[in-house]
Amino acid sequence: LHVLSVPTRDSQQQLTGRLWVVSDRTRERESDRLKDEFIGIVSHELRTPLTSILGYTEILLNRQDLDYESQREFLQTVSNEAERLFKMVKDLLDVSRLEAGVVKLNRWAVGLWQVIEELTLQLHTQLIHHKLLIDARTPLPPVFADRDKVKQIIFNLLSNAIKYSPEGSEIQLTVRRANADDLPATHPPGQWMLIVVRDEGIGIKPEDQARLFERFQRVDNSNTRQKSGVGLGLYISRLLVELHGGRIWVKSVEGSGSSFSFTLPIWTAPANEQGQEP
Ligand code: ADP
Repeated sequence: LHVLSVPTRDSQQQLTGRLWVVSDRTRERESDRLKDEFIGIVSHELRTPLTSILGYTEILLNRQDLDYESQREFLQTVSNEAERLFKMVKDLLDVSRLEAGVVKLNRWAVGLWQVIEELTLQLHTQLIHHKLLIDARTPLPPVFADRDKVKQIIFNLLSNAIKYSPEGSEIQLTVRRANADDLPATHPPGQWMLIVVRDEGIGIKPEDQARLFERFQRVDNSNTRQKSGVGLGLYISRLLVELHGGRIWVKSVEGSGSSFSFTLPIWTAPANEQGQEP
């Protein structure tokens, strides 16, 4: 609590009493703390790829004796690091827009099968060291959702599964109609599609599981420290899922794998309309 005391005087400047202003600064202090934390994380995480980009371009510019192979290798690193920076900046912008409440969903009937096909093509190069198993019995009922946002959520979950599981292991993507016993007790009622991304990776301790959906939360261990990231992917995913009315949750056993699940409402056609994506 912040307490301010001011003497009060009458027109002759005689002391008449004291005015006490008591204000609760907890929220302000919490917001200052978040801002400091934000600047700390961002400056560190942005600096790492930038340092490497500057280092490698300097070598490429100054060393004429480099063979073609090494040049390619260095350029590949520059390109990967630039992509990492791009993704981080995009995540930061997404968070600030989501928190400001200015993100509007462009919702329609979306076929999940097509979304999955596009995503697997997009993630093709990252997926070459894993076995991706898709369990989706067609025809899938369409969901009432923003297509790009749905792609972004599944993309985040698949990238994490790739990032936090060993080469050669299996990643399973399941899409099906949710049964009542699939859903957490607090889930809103209705007709839902369930999307699950399961990996055989490092897993997450029970005490860390819930906070991963908060901003800037990363599990601090030697495995995650080696991987780049600012801890915004799951936070963004949660905000996007909740904007659609759904929920996202995780089940995981440390050392043997994780499965991230989320729900999206099934689209129901208005009596006089056929649901087609524009
Ligand atoms: P980032 O991956 O950028 O750190 P995320 O918000 O996507 O941010 O994830 C937050 C944290 O959750 C990660 O740092 C990691 O510790 C943990 N995590 C996410 N997905 C997985 C997974 N599939 N297996 C194990 N840990 C995970």
